[in-house]
Amino acid sequence: KLYNEVIELKGNIRVFCRCRPLNESELANGSSVSVVNFDSSPDELQVNCTDSSKKQFKFDFVFRPEDNQETVFEQTKPIITSVLDGYNVCIFAYGQTGTGKTFTMEGTPEHRGVNYRTLEELFRVSEERQGIVKYELFVSMLEVYNEKIRDLLVENSVEPVKKLEIKQAADGTQEVPGLVEARVYGTEDVWEKLNSGNRVRSVGSTSANELSSRSHCLLRVTVLGENLIDGQKTRSHLWLVDLAGSERVGKTEAEGERLKESQFINKSLSALGDVISALASKSAHIPYRNSKLTHILQSSLGGDCKTLMFVQISPSARDSTETLCSLNFATRVR
Ligand code: ADP
Ligand code: MG
Repeated sequence: KLYNEVIELKGNIRVFCRCRPLNESELANGSSVSVVNFDSSPDELQVNCTDSSKKQFKFDFVFRPEDNQETVFEQTKPIITSVLDGYNVCIFAYGQTGTGKTFTMEGTPEHRGVNYRTLEELFRVSEERQGIVKYELFVSMLEVYNEKIRDLLVENSVEPVKKLEIKQAADGTQEVPGLVEARVYGTEDVWEKLNSGNRVRSVGSTSANELSSRSHCLLRVTVLGENLIDGQKTRSHLWLVDLAGSERVGKTEAEGERLKESQFINKSLSALGDVISALASKSAHIPYRNSKLTHILQSSLGGDCKTLMFVQISPSARDSTETLCSLNFATRVR
C-alpha cells in the first residue's frame, strides 16, 4: 500500500500527561512554586507530596507548562492520521476542572487545540492522497450529561431537546440514530460547526464553564474512504472527547441536583477507567455497558482501535491531592 504510512505504535493505548503553567492568581498569592518537577527524561515527572515524599510517574510523553499547542499536536498527529487508514481512534482529555482539558482539545482562537488541528491535518493528508484515495469527512458533536445524550449540532434548540439513544447496528457497531452528521469540505466549515456546537452547549446554563465541567463533550469525525486503485471502501470514526471534571465532590458540599451530577460523573469516569484498563490487560470481558460514555464509544475502543488519553494536571500545591488522583487513574489505564 503506497499511501499507507504505517506508524509503529507501542500497543494501541497511550497516555500523555500535560501540566498547565501556574496561573496569574497562583503566581500572585505566593504559591508560585510548582509541586510538579520534571527532569531530563521526556516521559517522567515527580510530584512533591504533602508529607514531603516524592512520587514518580512515567507516561508515553509528558508535556511541560512551557510546551505549546504545536508541540502537543506534533506528538498526537501520528495517532489521529491513522483514521485515514481505516482505524477507529479515541482521544480523551481527563483531569480536574481548570487543568486545561478544553485548552488542549478545543483551545482558544489564538491557540487552537487538537480538535481543529486534527481536521486541518485530515484535510491536508487527504489532499496529498488525491487520486489514490477519495475521502469524505463528516462531523458530529454531542454531549453526555447525567447519562443523557444531546446532539449539539441541532440548530433549533427551541424545541424540547431530542433525547438520543444508542442502538446496535446489523454489523455489531454502535450507532446513534438521528445524530446530525455534517459534511465538512474544509477547515472553515469545521470552525463554524465547532462554534455552533459550543453555542448550543451553553444554552440553558448560567455559566458555560460551570456546565462544561459537569458534562462530557464528544466530537466525532466520520471518515469515508474509497481506494481508487482497488475499490476498497472504509468507514472509520475519530472521537475527540473533553471529559467532565474528575474532581471528587464531597458529599457534604453537594446535595440534590449537584450530588446527582457528581455521582453520574464518577460513575462514567470510573467506567471509562475500567474499560481502558481491561483493554490494557487484555481481559476477556470489557465492561462497555456500564455507562453511556463507554457504550457509545464501544466500537472505537479495543480491537485494533487506537486510544490516547491526555491526563491534565495543575502544578499548584493547592491541587496536589487531585493531581495525585489523576496521575494514579492514568497509571491504572496504561
Ligand atoms: P478545563 O477544561 O480542564 O476545566 P481549561 O481548559 O478551561 O480547563 O483551562 C483553565 C484555564 O487555564 C483557561 O484559562 C486556559 O486557557 C488556561 N490554560 C490551561 N492550560 C494551559 C496551557 N497549557 N497554557 C496556557 N494556558 C492554559
Ligand atoms: Mg473545560
